[in-house]
Amino acid sequence: QPRDLPDDMSEFPLRPPVVTIMGHVDHGKTTLLDTLRKSSIVDSEAGGITQHIGAFAVTLPSGQRATFLDTPGHAAFSNMRSRGAHMTDLVVLVVSADDGVMPQTAEAIEHARSADVPIIVAINKCDKPGANPQKIREGLLKYGVQVEDMGGDVQVVEISALKGTGIELLVENIVLLAEVLDLRAPTDGPVEAAIIESQSEKGRGLSASLLIQNGSLSVGDIIVAGQSYCRIRSMTNDLGKAVKIAEPGTPVSATGWKDLPEAGQTAIQVESESLAKEIIENRIGKAKQAETLKQIQ
Ligand code: GDP
Repeated sequence: QPRDLPDDMSEFPLRPPVVTIMGHVDHGKTTLLDTLRKSSIVDSEAGGITQHIGAFAVTLPSGQRATFLDTPGHAAFSNMRSRGAHMTDLVVLVVSADDGVMPQTAEAIEHARSADVPIIVAINKCDKPGANPQKIREGLLKYGVQVEDMGGDVQVVEISALKGTGIELLVENIVLLAEVLDLRAPTDGPVEAAIIESQSEKGRGLSASLLIQNGSLSVGDIIVAGQSYCRIRSMTNDLGKAVKIAEPGTPVSATGWKDLPEAGQTAIQVESESLAKEIIENRIGKAKQAETLKQIQ
């Protein structure tokens, strides 16, 4: 059962926003993700090396943070949505200044709208001689996206993902919008997390990346996702550093899974391993029953 949270969340602490980068192919999503990842303050003492865990955190000099999902692209977004895991708080819509509003740009706008997630427009490749950011602003109007300097309320930032210009401003805008959205989550109580991705690795066994949504996940905790469960054996962050506890808005990779969970599934903390097994047996039973019913019909 998912947690019953109050309508008024003001008693809970603020959490970092979770951001998805979307846009047409070749408009610079991957480049922007790379630049953002590098812009993060690396804990040099610990000698952190970026690890691919499906999401990463960027910290501003002010200490404010934002978490970026590492999978550009629309399939990921709609899969997660259809599975009911609302991971994303806002979408950064990348549009190339030397191109225009393209089919996948329009699709991204549609996805964000139907999920009721606000957009920040990043006009990319502004370093290019043929760049025409104004044309992009006008092109977006046709899709109902009216940016700030065109009289609307959608934030817009001109960037070059390749050269790194405008990136800090973009993150500042994200953090600003997050403040308006007033994103809060309880740091105590049963943990709820979304599975970002899962994999079987040599030496490490089964692991899954989780985005903590509510509560704080600790080593030793037991969580159930779909038909698998995990007694958390170890957790690492996006810099490969071992962490003992993970709070809302934070991505971690966790080991200790009995089976691989699926991306998009919600993991929920339970009190004991026996309860986890009971829930899973129940779910497997129900799935079998549904299968049998389908065959009879
Ligand atoms: P994606 O398909 O949206 O992930 O786009 P990529 O990040 O793979 O970028 C497509 C191409 O555009 C690559 O050759 C990038 O080097 C180039 N590119 C991305 N951002 C910029 C930019 O800000 N300026 C310029 N000049 N090229 C860029």
